[in-house]
Amino acid sequence: MNPLSLLPSDAHNQRLAANVHPAGWVNPVPASRYNLVVIGAGTAGLVIAVGAAGLGAKVALIERDLMGGDCLNFGCVPSKAMIRASRAAAAIRDAGRFGVPSPGNAEVDFGAVMERMRRLRADLSVNDSANRFRSLGVDVFLGDARFSGHDTVMVGETTLRFRRAAIATGARAAELPIAGLKEAGYLTNETVFALTELPRRIAVIGGGPLGCELAQALRRFGAEVAILEAASQILLREDRDAAARVERAFLHDGINLITGCNITSVERREAGKLIRFTRDGAVGELVVDEIIVGVGRAPAVTGLNLESAGVTYDQVTGVAVDDYLRTSNPKIYAAGDICSPFKFTHVADAMARIVIRNALFYGRARVSALTIPWCTYTDPEISHVGLYERDAKARGIQVKTFIQEFKEVDRAILDGETDGMMKVIVAAGSDRIVGASLHSSRAFLGGKC
Ligand SMILES: Cc1cc2nc3c(=O)[nH]c(=O)nc-3n(C[C@H](O)[C@H](O)[C@H](O)COP(=O)(O)OP(=O)(O)OC[C@H]3O[C@@H](n4cnc5c(N)ncnc54)[C@H](O)[C@@H]3O)c2cc1C
Repeated sequence: MNPLSLLPSDAHNQRLAANVHPAGWVNPVPASRYNLVVIGAGTAGLVIAVGAAGLGAKVALIERDLMGGDCLNFGCVPSKAMIRASRAAAAIRDAGRFGVPSPGNAEVDFGAVMERMRRLRADLSVNDSANRFRSLGVDVFLGDARFSGHDTVMVGETTLRFRRAAIATGARAAELPIAGLKEAGYLTNETVFALTELPRRIAVIGGGPLGCELAQALRRFGAEVAILEAASQILLREDRDAAARVERAFLHDGINLITGCNITSVERREAGKLIRFTRDGAVGELVVDEIIVGVGRAPAVTGLNLESAGVTYDQVTGVAVDDYLRTSNPKIYAAGDICSPFKFTHVADAMARIVIRNALFYGRARVSALTIPWCTYTDPEISHVGLYERDAKARGIQVKTFIQEFKEVDRAILDGETDGMMKVIVAAGSDRIVGASLHSSRAFLGGKC
């Protein structure tokens, strides 16, 4: 287990650990052969294991760190708990415009915010716990899994034989090749949620969804926050309108947005961590107390010994799968962040359901048939499904775009949320919607996280 991941060692984190990596856990005696061996107990692995066991399959589930994976421990759950608290702080700050007296920037008790997050995370962890999965008929093994052949996996010295296997090992923060960064020290999603005190000055490297969500929350808690982004806009995957709206909100929050920059080095100085960068040909410097790397997810392929199982993979894109989520070894499937460019919990869940059907029933469920929505939980939020205009253009699809600005919507005016819009993209000459976006304070489309 990563020793830093469950700090501080308070009652909440002890309760979490007791659920997701119980001390003294004794691995079961393996069955002579499993219908399905699942590697990784994040969203994808848990859904595959519980679904398959519910159908009567003999299932083994192997987890080397914390059951629940990123979503529960280092991703959706802790980040959304923090974001909720940061929205409360912003509501107090902005209350004056509704006629409600406001002290201005609210004094945030960061320790209490993080304690609430740890308490809720521990509460939710019961659902993903080793004991719960054992009670549902899954053989839970805690340890490092590695393939030892085309139909065998090892956990420690124990060999598990399988008819089918599923790789659901997810992704981890990638190491950035920035001179001095490692020596100066930085936080990733695996360590940032262990903070109990708010750093005064924070640099977030990467203006993608993960970096933006955290940066805004930390700023609203009272830290001085800068986002360093290589591209000319944050949230590059979204369209320009959406990113511009979030940028406006960030400037209102007082975030220092440094886009189009190239970080050249990091150095630990007495005054803090000195970040040097170039931007528009000029050299810039920033001194901070903490650096958060919010960019780059690398598929967790290392140590799996995929070669011995005949599974093709790539260090950047992960395990190669076909439309049925089958790897180059027809007995082995994959689901979730390990094989998907859409690194979201609901996608991991949907892929897991495809794996159950295809691995156990010779099903023909296709990943390309999924319609994948997503939401970035900044304030305003951005949710999107289907094609953007630029995607449609790239595919040669003629489209017509319908826009409803919220400044013309009575309810949005009354809510004081006029800087938002809905965009619906329709195939030209038809009523077929090919894409839609919502940019507003509450754009969440629904789902697990
Ligand atoms: C900060 C942050 C916020 C996020 N917020 C959201 C959000 O709001 N909404 C959303 O939809 N998504 C969100 N995500 C993404 C979401 O967390 C992931 O898409 C999801 O967790 C992927 O699930 P997974 O099962 O594929 O992988 P993971 O959750 O990463 O699980 C993989 C598991 O495999 C284990 N493992 C790896 N290698 C081995 C091995 N060799 N042997 C045994 N076990 C192994 C790992 O320890 C891990 O527990 C967020 C991610 C981050 C980092």
